[in-house]
Amino acid sequence: MGKKAYPLMGGLLILCILYALVTHTSPAVSTGGAGEAPYVAQSSEPEPSSASLDEDWRLILVNKTHTMPEGYTVHTAKVGSCLVDRRIAGDLNNMIAAAANEGVTLRIGSAYRSVEYQQDVFNRNVEQLKKQGYSEERARELTSESIADPGTSEHSLGLAVDFARGDSTDFVESYEGTEQFAWLSAHAAEYGFICRYPKDKAEITGYTYEPWHYRYVGAKHARAISAKGLCLEEYLKAV
Ligand SMILES: [Zn+2]
Repeated sequence: MGKKAYPLMGGLLILCILYALVTHTSPAVSTGGAGEAPYVAQSSEPEPSSASLDEDWRLILVNKTHTMPEGYTVHTAKVGSCLVDRRIAGDLNNMIAAAANEGVTLRIGSAYRSVEYQQDVFNRNVEQLKKQGYSEERARELTSESIADPGTSEHSLGLAVDFARGDSTDFVESYEGTEQFAWLSAHAAEYGFICRYPKDKAEITGYTYEPWHYRYVGAKHARAISAKGLCLEEYLKAV
């Protein structure tokens, strides 16, 4: 090692000491991380590391081929007039408040639905169709097209929210044309929500386009999913 190396090493040492000082004396700065908006610091849940993805409740997949985990329990909290998993209530309330600040009213039309409730809704629809003359099998087929089979609705996780238009309880594709949808498209990911059934992903999600249905996955995942233009199924395969 030549003499010229010593000033360089001295400089590196000073840099290391400075780095250690910065990283150990400013915990308040590190809660949000570089480039993160302040709401992240308000979240009650820490951001996950990639090593914990498998156990991450935010990424639980429930769809037509992945049924609700056995014995899954949801601890709910009320947001508006609906119930959600209490772990997402903070971010959901923050999102609704942020939209309201910009003059946009987000109204939750439906959120948590227990598996039992889903079973009831499904059965009632089957019975109605049978009264109209359909066979049991056909009635079940037709019902499955518009109502998730019990155990296959992510509403039963308490992590899904349907936003309603005005006072209507109908969820229709024209939600896409509302100021609420425009706001959600720009900001939902910041609060951890994704449009769960995008227009061009029906073959993968198993659901036609639902511009009103949002799923909580946490801000880190929501941003990645939105930036890459993926649906949840694709994202889970990629991580
Ligand atoms: Zn929904």
